[in-house]
Amino acid sequence: MDKEIPLVIATGNPGKVLEIKDLLNGFSIEIKSLADFGPIPAVEEDGLTFEENAYKKASFTAKILGIPALADDSGLMVDALGGDPGVWSARYAGPNASDQQRVAKLLKEMQGQTNRKAAFECVLSVAVPSGPALTYEARCEGLIAEAPAGQKGFGYDPIFFYPPLNKTFGQMTLAEKSHVSHRGKALNELKQEMDKVLIWIRRHMPPAEGFLYTHNPKD
Ligand code: IMP
Repeated sequence: MDKEIPLVIATGNPGKVLEIKDLLNGFSIEIKSLADFGPIPAVEEDGLTFEENAYKKASFTAKILGIPALADDSGLMVDALGGDPGVWSARYAGPNASDQQRVAKLLKEMQGQTNRKAAFECVLSVAVPSGPALTYEARCEGLIAEAPAGQKGFGYDPIFFYPPLNKTFGQMTLAEKSHVSHRGKALNELKQEMDKVLIWIRRHMPPAEGFLYTHNPKD
């Protein structure tokens, strides 16, 4: 049987690691997080799209660590704010702000707004050290709540109200959120193609010590 393929989740965001690890359970993959390695340089997230930033994070991490990497770039797009905070979601209230400060800033910007429509978007990039990558993306539509509700999840979860379940993401269990969320849906697409993705990764990894490359003529 083939050895498990190592895959590092290229994010320092513990909320994302938790959701991704949970959904990739059960495959022939050895999931690692950045914490399993020594400190590595930070990636400049200066792309103008989720796709650009996801690819930057995945390919940079795969190159530096020499193993395949999965990165997620995501954010919240608010209609009344012209799509903001979008790719700047993590830095919306400044580089060192907390989730609470970002939520407070967004609620302030939304004061008096009757159009509360918003959507989370997520792009996943799976890259190998030599550069190529696969991309998956998904979106989840909802409304910006008037006030935070629920303490689960992370980021903007307490103010992202999802009408079909009549709850904010902050009030959902991990399973409930993953079933409908941008990240859950993108990961689901990846999972559906996982057999092909694993073959693709094997083909793009050089045979190296510690990484078992098994040539299967049927691949
Ligand atoms: P980045 O992808 O590392 O640039 O960060 C995306 C930012 O968007 C996060 O820090 C959160 O503020 C926000 N975000 C992305 N996905 C979610 C989510 O599932 N729930 C709440 N906030 C999210």
